[in-house]
Amino acid sequence: MKHYDAIVIGAGPAGMMAAISASENNKKILLIERNNNPGAKLLITGGGRCNITNICDAQDFLKSFSASRDFLRNSFAQFFNTDLLFFFGKGGIVFKTEENGCVFPVNNKAGDILNVLRQKLQENNVEVVFGERVKDVIVKDKKVEGVMTFSGKHFLANNVVVATGGLSYPETGSSGDGYELAKKLGHTIISLKPALVPIIIKEKFIKDWQGISLKKVRVSIWGNGKKIVERLGGIIFTHFGVSGPIILDMSSAVYDALQLKNSVELSINFIPELDQKKLDAFVLCELKANSAKAIKNMFRDILPRRMMELFLKYCNFNPDISSHQITFEQRKKLIAGLSGFRLTVKGLMPVKDGVVTRGGVSTKEINPKTLESKLIKGLFFAGEVIDIDATTGGYNLQAAFSTGWVCGNNI
Ligand SMILES: Cc1cc2nc3c(=O)[nH]c(=O)nc-3n(C[C@H](O)[C@H](O)[C@H](O)COP(=O)(O)OP(=O)(O)OC[C@H]3O[C@@H](n4cnc5c(N)ncnc54)[C@H](O)[C@@H]3O)c2cc1C
Repeated sequence: MKHYDAIVIGAGPAGMMAAISASENNKKILLIERNNNPGAKLLITGGGRCNITNICDAQDFLKSFSASRDFLRNSFAQFFNTDLLFFFGKGGIVFKTEENGCVFPVNNKAGDILNVLRQKLQENNVEVVFGERVKDVIVKDKKVEGVMTFSGKHFLANNVVVATGGLSYPETGSSGDGYELAKKLGHTIISLKPALVPIIIKEKFIKDWQGISLKKVRVSIWGNGKKIVERLGGIIFTHFGVSGPIILDMSSAVYDALQLKNSVELSINFIPELDQKKLDAFVLCELKANSAKAIKNMFRDILPRRMMELFLKYCNFNPDISSHQITFEQRKKLIAGLSGFRLTVKGLMPVKDGVVTRGGVSTKEINPKTLESKLIKGLFFAGEVIDIDATTGGYNLQAAFSTGWVCGNNI
């Protein structure tokens, strides 16, 4: 039976990069992927545009991770954003930087990123087996010997990289196998939770706002009446609640508050650019200038027509009342609604709907410099299977590529 220097389980960003960097060092590598094609999740990243990394410096980059910051410091010191862009640049990809330092391929095609990886795997003679799902890592005397697949095939190697991804979007192939493999070998799995998931809202009327997106609002999350976290950016209403980058980024804080059995609320400031004084003046001025108009026909630049009636009803307002009929008290209520519209958080969508999974193989049992297991010789971990997760902005893909590169380089 053929013997490899390393077997990499999973042809996602982490696994492909691990196979490429190991094969650069003239190692004989086998990459095993359960799907019939590589990179199913990579293709849907950034809505198919692939927000591959972020140009911020390492210090700010690490701040975007919910845990394991010190653990990742080593991987980023070895292979960071400029290295990643150089790698793909050599493959012919030109990049652009958008808002908040997010980097995308200039033609907005995740498929081009995947093509570079595929080509590099081929050039480096990495053997790839598709349609085989690894069931077990074979270990003897605390040393890796190979893997066995669900179909009963054995493959031999001194090193195995587990790069099977997390639990989210299982239809892409990452359904949590890596956690089972690691657990069987004695590794601790930090409890798996949803991260970067939409928020479910209790108020039923929210479904009438489905599809409405607001480009710039300030959303704050409140737990037991105390503000926990706040973000400025775009949101989108869905049939069950709210989504969009800033909502996803705050979902971990919501999860923690719900775990503490806090009553959690979400507050939306529809005009974040105005402070309280300016907002008072603005509303007063609008009401005076449109005194004959029904209130429901006003503030169109701020709230889309479809939102206005329900918004007013929820603020205990008769939507047909004319602007000049509004009392001082009512004006205060309107201002309060525009600057802090409160909704009740019912929960979060499940892990499978998250952009990434929070939790995973404990970083305490992995050598941060090499990403080799501290328990089993020749066992490595790369990507989302490890207990690492970050906010949106290109951080998660960079972590997958960096950890993949480090594993491969240490085989
Ligand atoms: C909708 C969506 C959009 C996203 N957009 C972005 C973005 O723009 N920027 C960003 O930074 N991050 C983004 N992410 C997160 C990013 O995609 C992941 O963090 C990244 O793909 C993790 O890479 P990975 O290689 O660790 O795992 P994966 O990409 O999940 O790859 C794991 C691979 O292992 C295979 N596998 C699993 N089990 C087995 C087994 N037993 N045997 C063989 N093969 C197996 C799977 O089929 C899969 O191909 C997004 C995620 C989603 C869901």
